[in-house]
Amino acid sequence: MSFCVKCGAEGPVYDNVCRNCFLENKRFTRIPEHVNLMRCVHCKEYSIDNKWIVHDDVQKAAEDVALDAVEVLKDTTVESMEAIITPADNANFRAHIEMTVEHKGLVVEEELDTIVRLKNTVCDRCSMIKGSYFEAILQIRSRDRKLLEKEVDDMLDRVDKLIKESATDNRDVFVSKVDRVVGGAGGADVYISNNSVAKMISRQLSDQYGAEVKDTSKLVTQKEGRDVYRVTYLVRLPAYRFGDVLLYKKKMFLVGPMRTTNVRLTDMKTGDAVNYSHTDLIDANVIGRSEDMLDAIVLLETDKEVQIMHPTNFKPVELRKPQKFKVKGETVRIFIYEEELYIIPK
Ligand SMILES: [Zn+2]
Ligand SMILES: [Zn+2]
Repeated sequence: MSFCVKCGAEGPVYDNVCRNCFLENKRFTRIPEHVNLMRCVHCKEYSIDNKWIVHDDVQKAAEDVALDAVEVLKDTTVESMEAIITPADNANFRAHIEMTVEHKGLVVEEELDTIVRLKNTVCDRCSMIKGSYFEAILQIRSRDRKLLEKEVDDMLDRVDKLIKESATDNRDVFVSKVDRVVGGAGGADVYISNNSVAKMISRQLSDQYGAEVKDTSKLVTQKEGRDVYRVTYLVRLPAYRFGDVLLYKKKMFLVGPMRTTNVRLTDMKTGDAVNYSHTDLIDANVIGRSEDMLDAIVLLETDKEVQIMHPTNFKPVELRKPQKFKVKGETVRIFIYEEELYIIPK
């Protein structure tokens, strides 16, 4: 049988005393008298537990920051905690917190009170954005043709999507400026806050569009004894795009999927697929864009031929099928070049 060394009561003891004597003058939790809730004046995000967080409701943010400020004694676990927030004025909130904690098998309820003070600040990201901070420039250009506005838009949308994806893991990733190249062959310069993200994006564009990437870095400053470089990624698009028709070595090819160094072409006559490197195709001429292709209604299909209705004069026309070609559905894609009709082998 155990008993309390302080008051003599019999029963279970904690550090040699009974529950009442043990809990006397003892607290397992505490909170500072004031807790600061930092809010960025630009993005309106709140700093809670060293992270910037979006909260639609300031009272909810006050609750989070108050609960985060609770400290518990060593060997104490929190079973539950709940905060009641009441606004005191525009910038202050009263927080009343009810806690249940467990310590050495004892379950204890405690209450805490604090004032949450709303303070304005500027977060790191916003101060970098305001200072137009960037580590890298992505230059979108073409190899030897004029870029269409729509193409530049597509590329910028792609860049934007990749930036957003990266920004979910790292909020310091952003675009600080986009300059459209006016006149000439067109294009755009995208100023990116993070060099490794800019590099990743240049590689992705290279893979997706068969673009050639060249990077150059320039020493701009020294920070804490380290050299700081600014990197320019020149992303140059080839003359052709996926779905275009090329004339190369007197043969017509359909442009297929692009890779960094090569592209898959399909011979329009034979249907054979061949890989060519982008450098090989410097001399190739784009004779048709994917948006120039037309749908033609199929009237009859035989082993070697397809009879279609001409899409502009509506007369029946017989066309030789590319090898291994089979009609799927009621139409075929065709391309008209110098009055001749060609089936798109797909
Ligand atoms: Zn006692
Ligand atoms: Zn901010």
